[in-house]
Formats: sequence, structure tokens, C-alpha cells
Amino acid sequence: MMRYQVLFSGVLAIILGCQGYPQPEKAGSCGYESCNPIKPGLINVHLVPHSHDDVGWLKTVDQYFTGTNRANWEWENQKPGVQYVIDSVVKELTFAPEKKYIQVETAFFWRWWLEQDDQMKNMTRSLVENGQLEFVSGGWSMNDEGAAHYTAIIDQMSLGVRHLHDVLGDCARPRVAWQIDPFGHSKEQANIFALMGFDGYFFGRLDWRDKDKRLADKSMEMIWQAQSSTGEDSDIFTGINYNGYSPPATFCWDIYCDDEPMMDNPRLKDYNAPRRAQEFIQSVREQADHYRTKNVKIEMGMDFHYQSAISWYRNMDKLIKFVNNEDPEINVIYSTPSCYLKALHDEQLEWPIKKDDFFPYASDPHAYWTGYFSSRSSSKFQMRQANQILQAAKQMTSVAYNKDVANLSPLEDATELIAKSVAICQHHDAITGTEKQYVANDYHDRLSEGVDGFMRQSIAQNGFTYCPLRNVTQCPITETSSKFVINVYNPLARAQSRFVRVPVKSEEWVVTTETGEEIPCQTVPIPEPVLNMPGQKTKALFELVFKADNIPPLGGSFFQATEGVGKSSSRSSKRILKEKDILEFDNGLFTTVISQGKTQLKVEEELIYTFNEKYLWYTGHRGDNSNFDKRASGAYIFRPDGEQAEELALTGEPIAYEGELVIEIHTTYETWASHVRRIYQGEPRFDYENEWLVGPVPIEDQVGKEVIYRITVDEIENAGEFVTDSNGRQMMARKRNFRPTFDINMTEPVSQNYYPVNSRIGMSTKEGKHGLVILNDRSQAGGSIHENELELLLHRRLMDDDDFGVNETLSEEAFEVGLVVRGKNYLLFNHEDSNSNVRHRKLGLEIFGTPLMFFKDGDLNAADVAKQRELFPNLDVSLPQNIHLLTLEPFDLPLGPVSDGKTLLVRLEHIFDQEEDTELSQPQAVSLPELLASFGVIEAVEELTLGGNEPWAVAQARRLRWTAEDNTQQEQVPQRDHKDDSSAFTYELKPMSIRTFKVTLKGETSLETTTVFFQEPSRGIV
Ligand SMILES: [Zn+2]
Repeated sequence: MMRYQVLFSGVLAIILGCQGYPQPEKAGSCGYESCNPIKPGLINVHLVPHSHDDVGWLKTVDQYFTGTNRANWEWENQKPGVQYVIDSVVKELTFAPEKKYIQVETAFFWRWWLEQDDQMKNMTRSLVENGQLEFVSGGWSMNDEGAAHYTAIIDQMSLGVRHLHDVLGDCARPRVAWQIDPFGHSKEQANIFALMGFDGYFFGRLDWRDKDKRLADKSMEMIWQAQSSTGEDSDIFTGINYNGYSPPATFCWDIYCDDEPMMDNPRLKDYNAPRRAQEFIQSVREQADHYRTKNVKIEMGMDFHYQSAISWYRNMDKLIKFVNNEDPEINVIYSTPSCYLKALHDEQLEWPIKKDDFFPYASDPHAYWTGYFSSRSSSKFQMRQANQILQAAKQMTSVAYNKDVANLSPLEDATELIAKSVAICQHHDAITGTEKQYVANDYHDRLSEGVDGFMRQSIAQNGFTYCPLRNVTQCPITETSSKFVINVYNPLARAQSRFVRVPVKSEEWVVTTETGEEIPCQTVPIPEPVLNMPGQKTKALFELVFKADNIPPLGGSFFQATEGVGKSSSRSSKRILKEKDILEFDNGLFTTVISQGKTQLKVEEELIYTFNEKYLWYTGHRGDNSNFDKRASGAYIFRPDGEQAEELALTGEPIAYEGELVIEIHTTYETWASHVRRIYQGEPRFDYENEWLVGPVPIEDQVGKEVIYRITVDEIENAGEFVTDSNGRQMMARKRNFRPTFDINMTEPVSQNYYPVNSRIGMSTKEGKHGLVILNDRSQAGGSIHENELELLLHRRLMDDDDFGVNETLSEEAFEVGLVVRGKNYLLFNHEDSNSNVRHRKLGLEIFGTPLMFFKDGDLNAADVAKQRELFPNLDVSLPQNIHLLTLEPFDLPLGPVSDGKTLLVRLEHIFDQEEDTELSQPQAVSLPELLASFGVIEAVEELTLGGNEPWAVAQARRLRWTAEDNTQQEQVPQRDHKDDSSAFTYELKPMSIRTFKVTLKGETSLETTTVFFQEPSRGIV
């Protein structure tokens, strides 16, 4: 009977429409209990029906959802619409309780869900509750792991899993992570999945030699110890798919595939079922030979498959029937990654351990996917910046929520819009820069819309503006006005001090604080290359620099800037650095001696470092991709043509500008690159700030250019060793031409040594006395290609596509010429009383927590301050230096009633690893009542998993535990044993741990109730 229904389901759909569908039987269970049974002793083949749905790549996220923009694609799989995929799958599942499907990207599922009527929603809910429709990963997107910052990964994963949980309950809670397409895999991502309570993690891409070795020694599945400081909490079972995420060759049965279907009627002339069954069995046996158990997982799906799900299911039905009949040793079932995982777990085997990561990914001897770490550098910066603003937006929404602000929804919607834009942009064809140009533009529009919407709903209501182009010295108020107010907001939960830079039109200024006290300020000329940028609109000629001291935590300081001469204001004096000149500056902490060729850092006359900084470019390899050796450098692949990089020649002489607060050296290279080095007076946070500008990169010579920054430090012989961060968090040890678990050859001597530098890269001497860490402002590729050197890939402009699908040359333009990119990095050297280990942890956090600046024309007045403080009250909080308030947001989505019982989601993070500092690496207790005193009295606290969708204790009790092989078992830190004082809501954080709490407040609030200030109607958000 069931067969009959399946055969005619397509017809039924047309005749009956949605009304005619039966509700699926409720099995009454989801999760592992709902798995189709396996047969012990046989080879159990787990067919995993899935569709890989990119939230933007060759088409925009909206186009992929709706299925529009169908014409002129080389690949048929660009035609489907994800809306039809989910429709089709739900209907197929409804007819056959044994069938399964996994849904991954919640950005798509959510759009679909909002469009469904109650009947379809109920049908879907039943399928989720009986385990047929299973969510895996469940993040808003399938995020990239190289260029995405951990804060954005946590947010985008939480956004997805919490939406699912809100509408579909516990059965919609994903149990495994599914990262089948990202281009390499990070240790911090694995850690995040473990802390989210996942039982396992599956992916598809790894270095081809690593894969060969693992296939040979049956180590495709392992226990990834993803964070040593946090021990078992961070362990996660990790499996690598045999075939990436494709079905075995010739078994693609989507409506858009060309493979032979199963023909099982012997009267058909093309009857092929027995032969096809044998072919399938052969591929199953081949695969089984490379894994440890008799369970074989086979991904049945590809990009945007299942629009006509019956095409897949009909053939799989026949396959299952035939194979199970043909071969008594094989049992084929519909399954899911979690059902497969459970079957592995039940075998009670021992598994190998993994401790490093899966970067960089190489798919052939000349295809190292290290280019994408830097592709579309400006996009990456915009995505990082929007993520920073999102954190402040969530804090502000929490404050407004807690203050009983009436009509909160516009602000809430604005915050949600940024959250969803940022989440989509973490996708593995978004922040990676591997999408088509018009899709990149769509991402940029979404981010701007999100950020603008938030600004409109918040600070703009008080007449302040935000200047998103301040990094290229554009800010309409400050560059034209003679008198303006600056509001500096600190999104960190502890005070910070910053040198602030604001573009202004003239050279004489006075800066006063909120209390009217004049503070030192200095003007510095804006470098010529910045003023001459294509599309530059600024009227400013100078930057006004002053120190915003002690900006209160989660609060703001106000400053007044007025044109004129004050007793503490200074101009910069100009000195030209001729070839044999030597300039010497003392910033109170160390002395810098600069000549054209090199820079020296001295402490109390003792020479500590001699270094030079250069800008160079590698030629991007050209090729038609017809074989490995002809692989071109492109958006994914970094393939320099040879090992030598061409140095950009100095143009003119460097110019130094010296004043009371900062010394700057402006250097220009050829016509298209420049560099400003800054040394701030008494700045303990870093030694040097570098601001680089690259572009338009010339390609008239038909040579693609990969532009790098390289620093050579005489005193740091690093023996090929260096460190890079993992998603802005853990530090990974790297070694030139070396991988910890497999051998590499020397096919790409530069690219094979590039790694993702999400936030920092460092090197030191063996004994650690001399060391350097460079922190950047966006994700980049970097490495140590030669002794004593570190380099970062800043900007890429190429001539060819690298043939991994995007089919466009990476050659960004703006204002009809090559795109100009401007960015910053910071140098931290080890010197006396200055351990760069400690400083990079603090500075990394402060770069991410860069204060937001808002501007208003005219005089600073008490009313303005009061109004802004309604939005950003100075909260009475101050966390210890090693603790970060990672998240502060209203718990409910959407916000619940604002009258009482308000709940907040609070994440706390210990930012130091073990042994980085004797004091700061110690466990630290944090009192939530003290931290949240401004919000009122705490009624209850519940610790949750990192995703905020399950109580931590419940997750720990149910998580599958795995046994490591004897020979790889190390003494592992046991599960957490925190010294909490739960009755006082005080919790301990160990090094590198993150803890997530749902905090319920008592009805009353200690914040003053405010008037309505959110008025604009909100627009719908999908
Ligand atoms: Zn993909």
C-alpha cells in the first residue's frame, strides 16, 4: 500500500493539493530512537538524503530560495528553488515513515516556514517529531571556518538552532554538525560544536594526502580534542565523508542528474536493477574497506537537489529493495548522520585522537585553498565590522528591553536584521570572497541595511550619526563642521582607553571632555594617497587625534571638538627622511630609531630589535586549469608564480609627522600602495600601528598581483615555527613545510605554508625572549615563508578564474578602477615588562571591541548626553581583565512580554589559555549579580549549552562518550569541575572556557523607565 502511495504521490499532489495529504503517523519519538534499525553482523548502508543549499554563491540567497534567475547556467543545479525542495521533501516523507531527510541551513528553512499554512506546519512538525525530518547543524548558514570570527560563528549557529527550537521544540534540536563543503576545518569550530552539545561532527574536505593516509589506515573517524584547557567538554567525535558530499559515481538520481535510474520491471527493455544493484554493492564494499565499522554512510544528494524529491526517493526505494535482496551481507536503510553516528557508538570501539586542525586544505598538488583567506579584503572588513556593531546592538536592545521601553519592536527588528545579515555573511561562499561579484554586492547591501536600520532606530533618533567610511576619512559632520560632539561607546564590559582619530578640515582644534576639561589633542595631515583615492569625497585634510581615557564599560564618553587654538592642542611638525637620515623617537616606553631601510626598537639605550617592513607582490599564476600544473591563482586558490615576490619601490622620501601624542611616518610605494606607521605616546597596548593602503592594483601588464606585507626581524630566528589563531581564539602551532599528521611535498612552497590569520600571527625564538605578534583588523592569509619573517596577504587582483565554480576572475573594481583597500595591523614585540602573549590576548579583544563613534554637529549639551545615556547607560559593571562578556542579549526571540520575568542570555569567556600568564591564566570567579546589578535582581540562573537551546546539565548527561585508542590516549582533563557558588549565582571560568547562562530577573528593574523613543514602523524580516 505504501508503495502504491509513493508511486502516485506526484499525481495526488496535483489533484488534491496540500489539503489531500495525510498526516504522517506519529512514531512518538525523535532522536536516536527514531532511527531505522540496523542488522548486526551485516554491512549496514546508511543512505543520507540531503541537499546542499548555499545561502548565496553564484546566485543570491533570495534567488536560491525562490529559484529565480534560471537562464544561461552551465550547471542545471543552479535552477532549483530551495522553497520547492523543502515542499517536495515534506510531501514525500509524509507518505513513507521509513524515509528520512536532513535539513541544514536554517536561513532557508525559516523563510519557507514563515510562508506555510497551519496544515503544512503541522505536517512538518509531525515529521520532525517522528524523526523523519532531522535538522543537522541548524546554523543560519553553513559557516566558513577560515575567515569567520568565533563570535560570529557562535551567533550564527545560535540564531539558527534557537529559531528551530522556538517553533519546533526539542525534536528540532540538531545532534550532529554537518560542515560538508567549507574549505578546511578549524579547531575552534570543533570546540564550538562540542560546547553546543553536539554528539558528532561530519565534514567533506581535507588535504588530499591526509585523506589518502586516513583511508589507508582507517582513521577517517576520530575523536577531536578541540581544546586542551577545557578537556572533555571540548571533545567531539569527528567523521570525514568518503565522497565529500556526493553519491557514489553513477548514482545521482536528482531530476537534474543524467545517471541511469533503477529500472526494476523485467519486462522493460532497459531492465537494469540487478546490474545497478551489483554496481552499488561494489562501491559500498570499496568504501567499507576504509572504515573501522560495518556501517557505511552514503550521502545521497548534492547542491540544490530534491526539488523533485520523488526522483531521488523512487530510485532509492528500488535500490534498497534490490540490494537487500541480492546480497545477504548487506542491509541498506534510509538514515541520517546522527543515526549513523549512533550505530558507530553502539559498536563500542576505540578511536584515534586528533589535536591539530585541518588547514590548509589542498585538493591537488597545485591547489592550496589559501587564497580565500584573503579574497575580497574589503568585504571581510565590512563583515567583521557589522559583527562588532551587532554586539553593541544586542547590548542596547537588552538595556531597552529591561527598561520596559514601550514599542520596542522596531529596535528589536533592527537588531534582528543585523544578526541575520551577519549570519548569512558567515556562509562559506560569503566571508570567503568566493562568490560572484553581484552576490558579494548583495551581501554588502544586506549588511548596510542592517547597520543603517539599527542606527536609524537608535542613535539617529537623538541627532547623532555614524560614519561607516571613517576608515577612509569620510565623515560628513566632522570634515565640515567647526564644532561637533563625539560620543565614544565602549562595547566591552570593562573600561578601555583609546587614541581616537577623526577627520577634520583644518589644523587647529581644541578638545574638551564632558566636564569641560581641555585634553591634549594633535592634528596630523591625511596622507596624500588617501586623499587621492578614487571616489574620495572627504573635505578633510587632517585627522584630529586625542586619547579617550577610561571609556566606561558598556557605556560612553562625550567629547567636544572646537576649531581654534587651545593650551593643550598641537600641530605636527614635518620632517623628511632622506636616504642617510636617522630619526629617533621616544614614546616614554621605548625608543624607535628609523632610517629608510630599517627600524630599531631600543629600551633604555639597549638595542632590542632591528626590523624592516616591505610591501611586495607575488605574480598570480596564470593557467587554463586543464590539468593540475595549469591551475590558475583565483578566488579560492593562492598560487604564486614562483617563490620570489617583487618588492614595491619607495616613491619619494618617507615623511615623519611629530607631535605631542603621536609620531607618524608616511611612506609611498610606486603609485598604488602606501603605509603609515604610528607610534603613540605612552601607549602600552601595542608598539606600532600600521595603516596600509593598496590599490588600484595595476593589471594592464596582464599580470595578476597578490600583494603582501612582510616584516623581517633580525633577532627572531624562528626555525620555521610560527603561530596563527583559530577563528580569533585558540593559538595554533605551525611549522614551515610540515604537517603534524602527514607528509607534504614541495609542490607549492609558498602557498602550502599559508594559514588563516583571523586575528593574529606570531613568531618567537626558541627560548621565547624575542617575539613578535601581529594583530590584524580582518581575516587574512599569512605565514612565515623565510626565516625571521612573517607575511600577510593584503589584497588580490587576478587575471583568471581557478575553476572551482565561481567562473569569474577575482578583480574587484570601484569607481571604474581596481578596488583600493585600506586596513590596519598592530605590532607587539616582546620586550622588558611587555609579554606579547598577554598583550595579544588583551589587544585582540580590544580590536574586536573597538569603540563605536557617533557624531553630532554643534555644542555638547546636557540634554544630548542624557538622551544618549538612555540608549547606552553607563552600567555599573567591570569584569576582570581575563574575562569577556561575550554576549548580552534578550533571551526570547521574539521578545516576550516586557512586564516581568525578563530573561537575558549572557555568555562569559575566559580569554587566556593555560600558562600564558601566571596570574591571568588562573580560573576566575564571576558574580552575575554584580555584573548585572544595573539590570535588577536575579531570580534564577540556568546554564545552557553554547547555542542556548538546551540546559547544559541535560546535554552533558545525554552526550555520547567515546573511547580513545590506548596508544593515543593522553591524560585528558576530565569534565569540568567548576568551583561554582550557585546559590550566589557566582560561576568559575577556567582558561579558554565559555559559559552560557539564561538569567531570569525579578520583575522590578533598577534602570529608570524611559519614554518611548522607537517610533518608525519596522519592515518584515525573513
Ligand atoms: Zn557550499
